Amino acid sequence: MSRTLIYNVEVVEPGIRVGPGSVLIDGRKIVRLIRDEDAQVEADERIDGGGRVLSPGLMDVHTHGIHQAIYENPGDFQAAAEACARHGTTCVLPTLYKVMSRKSLGLLRELTAAMKGVTACSYPGYHLEGPFLALPGAGAETLPGDVGLMAEVYEACEGRVSAVSISPDSKNIIPVIEWLMERDVVPFITHTAATPEQTQQAIDAGARHATHFYDVFPVPPVREPGVRPCGAVETILADRRCTVDFVCDGVHVEPIAIKAAIAAKGYEGVLLTTDSNIGAGMPEGVYETPWGYKVRVRDGDGARHAEQGFLAGSALTMDRGMANLFRWLQLPAEQVWAMGTSNVAKMLGLKHKGVIRAGADADLVLWNENFNVARTWVAGKCVYQA
Ligand SMILES: [Zn+2]
Repeated sequence: MSRTLIYNVEVVEPGIRVGPGSVLIDGRKIVRLIRDEDAQVEADERIDGGGRVLSPGLMDVHTHGIHQAIYENPGDFQAAAEACARHGTTCVLPTLYKVMSRKSLGLLRELTAAMKGVTACSYPGYHLEGPFLALPGAGAETLPGDVGLMAEVYEACEGRVSAVSISPDSKNIIPVIEWLMERDVVPFITHTAATPEQTQQAIDAGARHATHFYDVFPVPPVREPGVRPCGAVETILADRRCTVDFVCDGVHVEPIAIKAAIAAKGYEGVLLTTDSNIGAGMPEGVYETPWGYKVRVRDGDGARHAEQGFLAGSALTMDRGMANLFRWLQLPAEQVWAMGTSNVAKMLGLKHKGVIRAGADADLVLWNENFNVARTWVAGKCVYQA
């Protein structure tokens, strides 16, 4: 095995510290974190980090695509993985939302075969956004809970499913949540106008994470002047067992909502995600999509329908999301880093990801100024160098 030492770096230990040190990699794993710069370490290759920041790779649990690749096209996985590496993302749940039906089972098999062949990014499994959702949002399915269909979709994905988004107000959803829990699939709450009672029932059954929180969580209608209504958002904020993720582009959600969630849950309960799609990470311009319209991508404005101007998706990448969080939040650096790394790994139950310590996967990013990526490693292999 060849040992690589990355030295003279500011090592990010999420939630613990950011400070000087070196990291020794052997094969696919981190074998040692050295905080003492004078320690003598043997290595086959030595990389001088030049005093820059070395963090665990960023982890995105909700992303439909990046650059000009989408995860519902089997031919795009390699290009998507390479694009992720440029933005410091090393672990992704490819998020599907239009293909969870009985007529798409063949496509799910093809996607799964394609996903298995790619090594430039780590894919623990899909995030299926639906089909048991109450509100459609951007074209997601809205079927009542159906364990039989869930099992067929799961089988077509060869069990490579990490998370399934459900709505607490979908009919017959509790058996689906229980079915997912039995298979260690994490149920996410989203696309919902659920009442506090419905939301609490879903949480009690095991749904402990809310994705693109606030987006497609409409404000309940005021039924009596003078009484402010509460719904899924308040119920999720009130339950310390629940974590939430936000699309941190400054367009999909106000930074104050992120601060409110941190005040309710602590930084450990809040995650960064992108919900990205075609156009994410691309220069300003108009891009073709497979949905019969073009999107216009503009810095700080998301991806909008090129003619009608409505918000048609997120153009965020994890590196920009991290930069935004550092701008908006007055928190210690190790806590902000946790929101894109260790908090994500913990929520998914991935013990060897999102951290820099002996035994962890060697998924690492060396950063230049302003959250620009200098170098990315996935499972010990350099997959991008600026
Ligand atoms: Zn969605």
